[in-house]
Amino acid sequence: MIKVEKITKSFGDLQVLKGIDLVVPAGKLYSIVGPSGAGKTTLLQIIGTLSQPAAGNVFINGQNISIMNERQLSDFRNRQIGFVFQFHYLLPEFSALENVCIPAFIAKTPKKEAEQKAKEYLDFLGLSHRLNHKPGELSGGERQRVAVARALINNPAIILADEPSGNLDTKNREDLHELFFTLRDKFKQTLVIVTHDESFAAQSDAIIRMKDGLIESGGESNLAI
Ligand code: ATP
Repeated sequence: MIKVEKITKSFGDLQVLKGIDLVVPAGKLYSIVGPSGAGKTTLLQIIGTLSQPAAGNVFINGQNISIMNERQLSDFRNRQIGFVFQFHYLLPEFSALENVCIPAFIAKTPKKEAEQKAKEYLDFLGLSHRLNHKPGELSGGERQRVAVARALINNPAIILADEPSGNLDTKNREDLHELFFTLRDKFKQTLVIVTHDESFAAQSDAIIRMKDGLIESGGESNLAI
């Protein structure tokens, strides 16, 4: 479960988050929608421990990440959170298999075990015939699936995605969306996905609507949890 309490964040004079309260129950897929500049990415980065709030607390599976030091945060992030971005950020000089292994190596998983797991996830994502291809030799949809495999390899409880399908054509977008629901249903992962795709958002367990650094709707029914 993710619990966000009274989060604020400013960049200089600009207050980007003005007091966000949100609960995402374990095993649910929530989407965050809203106009450009609403603060969606900033909120996602704070939940993902990539950015610190000015005030407020974030609890992930009962742990208060707001009080962790940098080393604890980076360890927590690597083990508990998988990120999928609009641009995949794969390392161009490494193969699909090697890219997927990287978070496992950071988590000190032995090489053989990491490669075995990476192969399993790449196979699950229909990429077993692309293990040794470099990102430049893959299609956009394939690259994004490699990025999803990389996000999954440490079996994180939480998947955070920032406009993950924004760069994909319709077929690949639909496949990726279906995959997110599979992760929820098969692996019981908790997913928070920032999206501009209203039809995808409509299928998610809740739509969080943000505007001007606040949640306009979608969060309030959870606050009692
Ligand atoms: P979009 O849909 O365009 O991605 P968003 O809702 O995700 O928008 P954010 O990326 O969270 O919005 O940005 C919120 C505001 O904070 C914007 O006005 C943005 O310019 C500003 N902002 C974000 N990151 C920084 C930063 N590192 N330094 C300064 N301003 C920033």
